This record gives sequence, C-alpha cells and structure tokens, in this order.
Amino acid sequence: MSAGRECAAGEAARRRTFAVISHPDAGKSTLTEALALHARAINEAGAVHGKAGRRGVASDWMEMEKARGISVTSAVLQFAHRGCILNLLDTPGHADFSEDTYRVLAAVDCAIMLVDAAKGLEEQTRKLFDVCRHRGVPVITFVNKWDRPGRDALELMDEIQREFSLRPTPVTWPVGPAGYLRGLVDVRDPGHMLRFTRALRGAHEAAEERIRADRAAAEEGGDWDVATEEIELLEADGAVHDQKGFLTGTTTPVFFGAALSNIGVRLLLDAVVDLAPPPGARELAGGGTRPVDAPFAGLVFKVQANMDPAHRDRIAFMRVCSGVFERGMTVTRAASGKPFATKYAHSVFGQDRSMADIAYPGDIIGLVNAAALRVGDTLYAERPAAFPPMPTFSPEHFAVARPADIGRTKQFRRGIAQLGEEGVVQVLVSDVRGEQAPVLAAVGPMQFEVVAHRMAGEFACPVLLEPLAYRLARATDAAGGEALNRSRLVRGEALTRLNDKTVLALFPDVWQANSFERAHPDARLAPLIAAH
Ligand code: GDP
Repeated sequence: MSAGRECAAGEAARRRTFAVISHPDAGKSTLTEALALHARAINEAGAVHGKAGRRGVASDWMEMEKARGISVTSAVLQFAHRGCILNLLDTPGHADFSEDTYRVLAAVDCAIMLVDAAKGLEEQTRKLFDVCRHRGVPVITFVNKWDRPGRDALELMDEIQREFSLRPTPVTWPVGPAGYLRGLVDVRDPGHMLRFTRALRGAHEAAEERIRADRAAAEEGGDWDVATEEIELLEADGAVHDQKGFLTGTTTPVFFGAALSNIGVRLLLDAVVDLAPPPGARELAGGGTRPVDAPFAGLVFKVQANMDPAHRDRIAFMRVCSGVFERGMTVTRAASGKPFATKYAHSVFGQDRSMADIAYPGDIIGLVNAAALRVGDTLYAERPAAFPPMPTFSPEHFAVARPADIGRTKQFRRGIAQLGEEGVVQVLVSDVRGEQAPVLAAVGPMQFEVVAHRMAGEFACPVLLEPLAYRLARATDAAGGEALNRSRLVRGEALTRLNDKTVLALFPDVWQANSFERAHPDARLAPLIAAH
C-alpha cells in the first residue's frame, strides 16, 4: 500500500462526521456549545450559528442573515476528542427550514437526534429522521433538558419505538424524573451512578463524580430504586445497545442529559467516538463503491453564492469521500469531465475561512470561485468516480414566479434556471402556466426569499412571487399527471420538474391526494423524499 493510501485510511478511521437533528428550541445551539467545550475545538470561530447576542454569532454573509439574525449557511465545527477528529456539520435549525438542511445529511455518517424531554418527538425531528432513515444514516438519540419537568423516560422510549419503528437502546439512564435529575447511570457500568455538579453555561464542564451503587441507594433512595428497576426492565426486554442494529438503522442508542448544564454531554461525545462509524466506502452511481483509500474523490453537497457581497463569489461545500485532498491539486468534475483548480480551497468554519492545505475522508472543504460546481457534483483525481445524484426532497411550499418587469424575461429565465440547477429551489413547469410563470417548490419558505434576493441582486431581475395553496407533492407518471389536470373533483395540479422531468402532483392536503388516488387507482402516486 502506498503512503498516501495508508494515510487516507488511517486518517479516515479517526474521523467522525456528524450532524445534530432537532426541532427548533430543543437545544441544538446549546448542545453544540457544550460539545465544543468538552472537546478541544480546533476552530471555534462563528461555528455555533447564532442568535442575537450569543457567543459565536451568525455569519454575515448575506444581508438577509443579518436582518434575521440567523444563519442561512451551513458551517462546520471541527474538534478533537480522544484522538479522533470530529466534524460537526451545522444543519440550519431555524423554524424556516430549507433543502440545505436535508442536504447536509448526505454529507454525514451519523446524526444525533436531539429530543426535548418535555416535548418528545416534534415535527422537524420527524422530517429529519425520515431523511436519515432514507439515506441509511445511523442515529444516536440525546434526550435533552432532563433538568426540568418533562415526560416519563420509559414513555419517551415508547414514543420513539412506536413512531419511528426504531428500537431505543438506552446507554445512559436518568436517576430521578425529569426536573429532578439526581444523576445518570451508564448501563454498561450498572454498579455506579454518575453525579454532576451543575456548570453554568459556557463556564466549564460539569464536574462528574462516580458513586458506588450502595451509596447511591442510600443517598437517592426511591429514585435510585426506580432507575435500577427500569434498567433491569429494559435489559429484560432486550433494549441493549446493538452496534449492528444501530449501524443498519433498526436501533438507536439513547443518552440523557441537560446540555445547558453540560450534564451527560461527555458520555454523548464518547459515543460519537466509540459508536459512530468512521467514513467508509461510498456507493458510486454506476454500481460499485469508492473505498476511502482510493484516490481523491469528493461530493459537493451545498453551493452558496455571494456569501461575501464584496467579492460576489460562490462557494461549494465538499465532503472529502476518499483519498487525500491537497490544496492546489487539479481535480476533475465528473459531470463535465473538465478540470477544476483547487487553489482556493478553504476550511469552512462559520464565517472564518482559512486556507485548507490538506483534508482527509470525512472532512469538509469550501471551494471558492466555484461557479462551475453544482450540488451533487463529484470531483475526483486520477481514477474517475461519480456519486449518485443528490436526492431532491418533498416540497411543501409552492409559489408562482413572474418577472416584475416583463422587459427582463430573458434574465428571468436564465436566473430561475440557474437557481434551479443550484438546488436553491425546485422549478416546476407546465404547458398551462407557460414558461413565464414557473412554479417554485421548496421545503421551507425561506428558499423563496433567497430566490427573490438573488434574482434582484445577481440577475437584476426582481420577481413577483404568488404563493399557491398546495402543501403536498407526490411523484407520478405522465398518465397520472394528465388525470389530475383533467380532474374536476380534486383540487390539485400536475407539473414537471425542470431538472429531471419528474412529474409532480401537487395537492392542498393529504385528503385531496387520497381522494384522487381513490378516484384514479391506476394513477401511481409515490411519496417523495428522494425522487431518484
Ligand atoms: P435550538 O433552537 O435547538 O438551537 O435551541 P437553543 O440551544 O437555542 O435552546 C433553546 C432554549 O432551551 C434556550 O433557552 C436554552 O437555554 C434552553 N435549553 C437548552 N438546553 C437546555 C437544557 O438542557 N436545560 C434547560 N433547562 N434548558 C435548556
């Protein structure tokens, strides 16, 4: 084995690339900060996407971000823990959801599902979990906010099992009900309880004391008894960590804690190192796989334009999938077969960009001046590779776009087509609506704002957006589309996606979709997480 291959394999083995998926307010920013406190952040700057007045304030790449005080872009936080390099990819966690949130999950090997102890599973957690399941991303669960009143621990386990058909296998278990956290039991070390001294947010790590069972029983009384009984119950029920089940997406190891007081965070971090998989061989579009020690190949999972208005540049976020990436190397863009120079490769840590000279499988690189690159692109060196196309996701928001000035039709068409190609929104067309009035489809309404902003700024073509009352899309075939457009009983409409020609059937709600299906049993409607 050559030195380069050995190096790529060795470095890949100590990488963990993951994201936190959660509903807004479950504590993602707080947990991210807590993780960074426990691990040694290699580059902390701006990585925790901010809320006004917070440490690690949001990037100011776009004016819109400033106005809203949130981060539209995905940043990466890289830190070291027990000899491993951890890449934590930020999934924009605002209520305004976008396709970028989903795409980040194409670039990770594991996800931490953050659950609010009082609220249980919430809408965005469900959606993101669906994407993880679909992409085969293993999920570690962290039940947060155990320091304040919440649900019963067993009941939460039940909910995960029932709703996600995912078997929870607790690795830590709380002593004391939510709101009365006495400590945690690491079920692999049942003769002890871990007791924490609360730390103030951002101050220091919570001090951890390992107490023997007899002392815990004497000091915690009923709470200790309940915890040990529950642990026995779970064990008898077979709810024990199963690495194979976790990696294949049938089980999820569960951890409890309170990110705000740094409780349980170290155990979670250890789990990322010990349980989460390192980067592995990735499937190729034409069959076969690209092992991590093959020559360099990377996947572009996000393209962000004009992050720096002074430079009007475009940055492509690429995950290194195999081999060693060295800045300055010339790579090939699989889609065009054309060379791409990587002189301007950066590490991307929030708003701070430093040159990245070398990166290994699992690492994220920002390629600046990447006008030629698209979401889903593969870049490779030496031996050709092409990863499967990036999935598109089921849109839930739809708006008709028109040029504000009909004299600028040409710019309008060019701009909309470009934004569609970049994956900013999905662009749907139909003969009925005509080319001047495409329907834009998004998973979150903020994508429309990005379109409006960029059409006005970059293409000098302000647009008018008229929201449509549809909320649901299904893939169908040409016959299904025709049937829907003819139907007088069902409110809905069929359009064709510009990029891949998939026919999408749009409905205002699931009832309309069901009634259409009943009326047209031959028309195939397929759910749409991924259209490919
Ligand atoms: P995000 O929207 O998911 O990023 O959530 P944040 O990290 O901003 O947290 C939302 C709110 O929950 C904030 O007020 C946090 O202080 C609070 N919070 C987060 N983690 C905990 C926790 O472990 N315990 C308690 N009591 N509050 C928490």
